[in-house]
Amino acid sequence: MNKIENLLNIDVSSVDPSVEADRTLTVCNACRYCEGYCPVFKAITYRRVFDNPDLDYLANLCHQCGACYQACQYAPPHEFGIDVPKALSLLRAENYARYAWPQRAGKLFQNNPTWLSLITGLCLALLMYLSNASVSIDETTDSGNFYSIISHSVMVAFAGLTFACASIALVLGMRRYWQAITDKATPSFSLAALNKAVRAGLNLTHLSKHNQVGCPGDSEGPSPWKRYSHQLTLWGFLLCFVSTCTATAYHYLLGITAPYPYQSIPVLIGTLGGLMLLSGTSGFIYLKFNQRRAMQMGQLQLDLTLTTSLWLIALSGLLLLVLRETNAMPALLLVHLGFVFGFFITMPYSKMVHGLFRMLSLILFYAETEDAVGDPAGSE
Ligand code: SF4
Ligand code: SF4
Repeated sequence: MNKIENLLNIDVSSVDPSVEADRTLTVCNACRYCEGYCPVFKAITYRRVFDNPDLDYLANLCHQCGACYQACQYAPPHEFGIDVPKALSLLRAENYARYAWPQRAGKLFQNNPTWLSLITGLCLALLMYLSNASVSIDETTDSGNFYSIISHSVMVAFAGLTFACASIALVLGMRRYWQAITDKATPSFSLAALNKAVRAGLNLTHLSKHNQVGCPGDSEGPSPWKRYSHQLTLWGFLLCFVSTCTATAYHYLLGITAPYPYQSIPVLIGTLGGLMLLSGTSGFIYLKFNQRRAMQMGQLQLDLTLTTSLWLIALSGLLLLVLRETNAMPALLLVHLGFVFGFFITMPYSKMVHGLFRMLSLILFYAETEDAVGDPAGSE
């Protein structure tokens, strides 16, 4: 097949995602109509050919807003069949496993994300319950005291082990990714570039700027809902984490033990975080099932596993809070802890990795474009 034939539309389902991403971005690099849309289009101008690490870097710069697809004169039914968000989405799904540590776990998760997350979590919860044999469920279930079901030391041991495993796997996966994408590049890193990358990553700056063009919906018009859902999910998740840290500080630094009253700081922060997480993930699930375009993006199962896990964590956490003084508390506690541990242990192989890979890609992007005049990708 010659170069011209390569640029024509090919059956995406039958080709390697790297080959399709290469074909797509080669057409874009000649066209450059979308140059101001997002960092992807600026970053391709620094490259004439795309090898695998380049493509992975570009794939993680994309946040799948769909703006370029809606603007593209070569999108299907044109014979070139250019669909940048879909090509990069399929490649991202593959590279989460490629850089995962251990890689075998990444591949295993990719084939069965939902079941692996749920079964691992529920097994951990069961194991935790069984290793807590001295505690009787009938003793104090009406007091709202979780430690009457799982002792504090057992809970801390399981949480610590799960968190440590997830952190090690995440850090090693990020290290692999960073080494690959910076292998050829020799950009000058600076605090300014780091600052721009962190701000753009946390604020979803590029998604916001191009809301005039829209998210991957079925309509031609702009839609802010993906950004709203994303921010509610992100900040809700972080607030839940802060709530857990605050409760830990209460326990170890102030000597105040759980259960904490509804008006206490850990419960207030946790409730706000849980509600935000529940609303954000509900928004994502609604968008996934109600936008034909979103369902064609090629990462549906990975997306849904992540959003559904977070949705279940938020819902079970809020139910646990409301029903903590009833007989439903022991079962709810085990189910909630199962969802939480299942989420953390599979996090290094899930779509959660995209947030971290995207941040690393943005750091490289701003370092690469540091000397350019202004901010050519239109981020600020
Ligand atoms: S997405 Fe389409 S219009 Fe935009 S740069 Fe690529 S080929 Fe050109
Ligand atoms: S971020 Fe949006 S505009 Fe940029 S490549 Fe992805 S879908 Fe296209």
